[in-house]
Amino acid sequence: MSQFRVRNAVSPLRRRLPEAQPEALPQVDALVAELRPEEPLHCLRPAVFAATAAEFVAAFPGDTLYAVKCNPDPAVLRALWNGGVRHFDCASPAEIALVRQMFPAAEIHFMHPIKARGAIREAWMRHGVRDFVLDSMAELAKIVEEVEATGVDGQLGLVVRLALPKGEAVLDLSGKFGAAPKEAAALLCAARPHVARLGIAFHVGSQCLEPLAWRRAIALAGEVIQAARVRVDIVDIGGGFPVVYPDVEIPALGAIMAEIEDGFDRLGLPDARLWAEPGRALVAGGGSVVVQVQARRGDMLFINDGVYGSLADAGALAFRYPARCIRPAGETSATSRGFGFFGPTCDSADVMQGPFFLPEDIAEGDWIEIGQLGAYGACLRTGFNGFDRARMVEVADAPLDAPALPVAYTRAA
Ligand SMILES: *Cc1c(COP(=O)(O)O)cnc(C)c1O
Repeated sequence: MSQFRVRNAVSPLRRRLPEAQPEALPQVDALVAELRPEEPLHCLRPAVFAATAAEFVAAFPGDTLYAVKCNPDPAVLRALWNGGVRHFDCASPAEIALVRQMFPAAEIHFMHPIKARGAIREAWMRHGVRDFVLDSMAELAKIVEEVEATGVDGQLGLVVRLALPKGEAVLDLSGKFGAAPKEAAALLCAARPHVARLGIAFHVGSQCLEPLAWRRAIALAGEVIQAARVRVDIVDIGGGFPVVYPDVEIPALGAIMAEIEDGFDRLGLPDARLWAEPGRALVAGGGSVVVQVQARRGDMLFINDGVYGSLADAGALAFRYPARCIRPAGETSATSRGFGFFGPTCDSADVMQGPFFLPEDIAEGDWIEIGQLGAYGACLRTGFNGFDRARMVEVADAPLDAPALPVAYTRAA
């Protein structure tokens, strides 16, 4: 079997870990004028990632675990660390190895409910990971067996993932993972004798627009804890914190935090610790991609990135993003109108209906910066049809169409 080799389907955009934050970063417009990029240009705003992380960490009355899958770029991880994030929600050995390599002192949590046995051993033994999530008796047995087999001592933490009824989030995440309440209670009981700390976790779904969703989920977790009659040390309220997209009104972060805090207080678990696993909310605003218009047909623009690149969610999920035209050589029309995009591949599904509002005279050769793409953007790229070339730069710009940052919320004494 030695002829089989493991390789990455898409090479990382960055091969070297970034240096400490550069003194002066360029602006997007100047870069586009200089580089005239014919491939997608991913722009990262380290200052925005750091400020957003600092705001969340200050507002959340517990530990903030960044969900690495949302954007694993080293420059992003570094900026979040600079903003005060010390905990990382990882789902794969590669994510764990990357975070450990960059931050020897990071607290890494293995939050995928279904893990390969070798991944559990490697996480425990090599990377000092102590917390593992599970949603079945089989996975509980697997984790306990593999951890014991390493012969490495440590304080095991187990977190039971609870499934939630479908709610108001744009993306439901309970269809695949999570134990029903009765099973979750049985899992808490079964896990307790094996652990130094025991938790319960859920995910309300990504881009959740309803603060009450967290309150309801915390109350359900409370019922499960009561039914289990065992001590629970961690209540992990997952991710799902929303960000602003065009025409989407989101609740203020403080309104969500108020529901979480009040819901948690009602559980009457003064010794338990809160965890959150935000992804999108920490990184969306800090990333954008600059694409080039290769052709215009009416209200449709053929661009050099698409649903097999960093715009996956603009396809089937019909996400809309803020967009602006960059035309270094001259003025654009002051009147804007809605456009749809075709991506570069030959697949007719490579289409993004938008509408994306751009100057009405936009034309072949113009560039478009698409914002709020720091989350679930560049990390979803594929090499389909050979369109996998892209560049990545760090820039000093503010977020595109910067939405007002929600008022920072601090826990009442
Ligand atoms: C994807 C994911 C997150 C992050 O979700 P966001 O909606 O991006 O905040 C957090 N926890 C788990 C278990 C996830 O799968």
